[in-house]
Amino acid sequence: MKNPALAALCLAALPALAAAADADRPNPAIAAVVSEIQPARIEATIRTLAAFGTRNSLSDTVSDRRGIGAARRWIKARLEACARDSGGRLQVAFDEHHVESGPRVPRPTDFVNVVATLPGDQPESRDRIYVVSGHYDSMPTDPTDGASDAPGANDDASGTSVSMELACVMSRHHFDATLVFMTVAGEEQGLYGSTAFAKAARAKGLDIEGMITNDIVGNTRSAEGAVDQGRLRLFAQGVPAVKDLPDDVLAQLRTGGDNDLPTRQLARAISAAAATYVPGLRIQTVWRRDRYLRGGDHFPFQQEGYPAVRFTEPVENWNHQHQNVRVENGLQYGDLPEFVDFGYVAQVARVNAAALASLALAPAAPREAKIEALKLESDTTLSWAPNREPDLAGYRIVWRDTTAPDWQHARDVGNVTRATLPVSKDDVFFGIQAYDRDGNVSPAAYPLPLLPRRPPVVK
Ligand SMILES: [Zn+2]
Repeated sequence: MKNPALAALCLAALPALAAAADADRPNPAIAAVVSEIQPARIEATIRTLAAFGTRNSLSDTVSDRRGIGAARRWIKARLEACARDSGGRLQVAFDEHHVESGPRVPRPTDFVNVVATLPGDQPESRDRIYVVSGHYDSMPTDPTDGASDAPGANDDASGTSVSMELACVMSRHHFDATLVFMTVAGEEQGLYGSTAFAKAARAKGLDIEGMITNDIVGNTRSAEGAVDQGRLRLFAQGVPAVKDLPDDVLAQLRTGGDNDLPTRQLARAISAAAATYVPGLRIQTVWRRDRYLRGGDHFPFQQEGYPAVRFTEPVENWNHQHQNVRVENGLQYGDLPEFVDFGYVAQVARVNAAALASLALAPAAPREAKIEALKLESDTTLSWAPNREPDLAGYRIVWRDTTAPDWQHARDVGNVTRATLPVSKDDVFFGIQAYDRDGNVSPAAYPLPLLPRRPPVVK
């Protein structure tokens, strides 16, 4: 039996997270990507999208000046111009899905996503995919009204502009993993574009390790007039609210890993990148799926078992969402560009750039992470499978109190696949991260228990 005082001494001797290592130094390659975000181009994108009059999924698809058809052809042409600057690496395509009818689909409709893919450079990482999305469709008061003006400057030309800006900036850089920059249709009709994409991804067995939707990321003034430019909300669900949970989720829940499912690990990695590269914008992680009465394109990805989160502005003004453009009692309604804070949208784009660059440069989170529970003991031994990336440099164990939201401690253990720490696994949550030679750190993997073949008798 261990001396408790000795155990406490060992714990105190371990490095705190702030002091831990090399892997925390900012990567100049990521800082460069963040610095290239162009606020003026973001503003121009939002103004151009709003000027199509409406981008409702049921609006005109033939006109070159008005309606969703003109909008998507313009988005595709803009992305193709950026693809030329990428040396042809960025691949741009329409992704079309036909729907016969539905609650908000009164007649057969084609929902067309515009998808720009930047394949990863590292063969061992190329199959690992990160998706960033905004929806380019819009709605006036009635979602099935394809005729009225629905400029959708904030909802969601703001998020669309983020996807497009990232595609143009990031396709001039190189990443290990694959990035997909997407603008989707049919969100307001019932998440049709994103659902079709997520289902097809699952059917193809794609390894999407993270999806971010930016939806309504441009307003900083509340209906009451309060301004908040310093905060961005990140909605990250833990346990999905489904009747039948997959076995791997159940295995994790048996050890209390509710807050360490992949979507929460993704949110921690995004927050960490934002804090390093965009310190002026505080990420407020919200541990729920979305705001009350609202939803978004991250839902179908979660439904298919992919880690998926949503960014949304800090304060909302519902006079400028889902409203016919009109003046009533001297008050301007409608989702018009004049109510968008373009500088704020650029900050949101920088956060996305930092997060996606960090994820796509870092190794994958270690696989087959295990916490040895073979006998009763006060130390903790963790093991994992070796990563495949050729630039892998080592592994880091992180841990925190079970009631703490973020990692509190870290220890780099080198390029090994098993490590023992003088910390009781009963009292904390552990994670295992992989890092490469440039200090890019993966999200944490949650270790599932490695149990004895015959469990000991519990007394
Ligand atoms: Zn929206």
